[in-house]
Amino acid sequence: MEARSLAGAGVLACALAAALSAQPRKTVFLITDAEGVAGVCRQDQTDPKDQEMRQLLTGEINAAVDGLYAGGAAEVIVWDGHDGSQTLSALTIHPRAKLIIGDLGVTMTLERNYSAIGFVGQHARANRKGGILAHSYSSLGIQTMLMNGKPVGEIETRAALAGAFNTPAIFLSGDQAASEDFHAIVPNAEVAVVKEGFANYSCQTLSAQAAQDLIRVRARSAIQKIAEIKPYKIEGPVTIQIEYTTRNALGPDAHLRPGAEIIDARTIRYSGKDFLEAWTRSQRP
Ligand SMILES: [Zn+2]
Repeated sequence: MEARSLAGAGVLACALAAALSAQPRKTVFLITDAEGVAGVCRQDQTDPKDQEMRQLLTGEINAAVDGLYAGGAAEVIVWDGHDGSQTLSALTIHPRAKLIIGDLGVTMTLERNYSAIGFVGQHARANRKGGILAHSYSSLGIQTMLMNGKPVGEIETRAALAGAFNTPAIFLSGDQAASEDFHAIVPNAEVAVVKEGFANYSCQTLSAQAAQDLIRVRARSAIQKIAEIKPYKIEGPVTIQIEYTTRNALGPDAHLRPGAEIIDARTIRYSGKDFLEAWTRSQRP
């Protein structure tokens, strides 16, 4: 009897030790964009083939990858998220990162259940005061985007998309406005503010070197506190309302889209039982 219970205790101790030592393997998915990069302030710099912007963006991404590995990440996957996925190159991306090129569809591969997502080079939502090159998905196509009545852009909707898969958004680098937008929904996430906007096309920026040093440090802290950062989850039914620009006014059959309600000639509202349903409907018009 006693021998058996001792053996039992031994098995239990072994299992406990294994559980403690088996740190979950941390995979981080980085969403990248150009408008929030230090040194980028004019529209012409956002051309996906602009050589200087490519270097500035790649430098920031690689600094974030460095920091994430230093903080304990096992794998960092980088998505080239700027304008048609034609900005990043396997020749210059961090040697330990994996690069995703191309359109990822509605779920952005988040069903792979990454440990966390992060943003590099992120801009604020459309109409955000102090936002540099601020827009929500399309500067020419979309005037305003509302989620449950609140103005949103890529930060809020992508954090919510990750949240729908129980994945926390832990890090953002970008301008002051983007960082504030991110902190408004994930207060304890880490941010690296690399520039300050005076208006849409005027800013004060850190040097590339200073921005990269800051990003490296903040990305490392982000992964170190990953357990404390909750996924950003939108509970209950969700509406996504999109006001298009004049040149993109709704077509005559817009009312046939599932879950859609026409608000005016340029504005449509999609409803869903949860974020994922509303978002999917809004993204597949
Ligand atoms: Zn963008």
